[in-house]
Amino acid sequence: MENITGLTLGGGVWTPEFATVLDPKKCIGCGRCFKVCPRDVLDLIDRGEDMELDDDEDYDEDDTASVMTLANPRDCIGCGACGRVCPKGCYSYAAMPVQP
Ligand code: SF4
Ligand code: SF4
Repeated sequence: MENITGLTLGGGVWTPEFATVLDPKKCIGCGRCFKVCPRDVLDLIDRGEDMELDDDEDYDEDDTASVMTLANPRDCIGCGACGRVCPKGCYSYAAMPVQP
């Protein structure tokens, strides 16, 4: 199936890669990605028991009590801004087929 593509202002074709995974075991809840997302895809929630940080030795538990989630993944435009500002490499992306 054909992937979703867009056009640049100059008419060049580009293939957006959408945020498909946000790893809660890496996320420190810093909020950087939330600030840059243009589509309100993300939301900060309380960290659940199954979302413990893989490596939290450098962080105070109070500072990492929240974790970011892909609350509205279908609103993602695949701009990649979230991953560019994330200090922990939490995001994974993929091109996606055109939805029926
Ligand atoms: S890729 Fe862009 S639109 Fe999608 S979640 Fe990240 S910042 Fe938001
Ligand atoms: S930028 Fe990365 S570490 Fe910070 S809240 Fe977003 S996903 Fe979590």
